[in-house]
Amino acid sequence: MFSKILLTVVVVAIIWFGFKYLQRIAELRAGRPSPPDAPHPPSAPTQSQTAQDLALCPRCATYRAPNQGPCGRKDCPY
Ligand SMILES: [Zn+2]
Repeated sequence: MFSKILLTVVVVAIIWFGFKYLQRIAELRAGRPSPPDAPHPPSAPTQSQTAQDLALCPRCATYRAPNQGPCGRKDCPY
């Protein structure tokens, strides 16, 4: 009884993955990669964010972007 259920689950899984596999091949042949696997473009916005001039806070000894505001200490100059 249990083996029948297991066999049914395995067959359904094989059909499901086979369907996805065929769908993926069809998309690749159409020259259109599926959205989740599409290569991400270079993260230009993130790079411009990290390329900001960082200022060293003499109180907390950490480099912070000026628009980050104070680090939380009372004597922080930012
Ligand atoms: Zn600070």
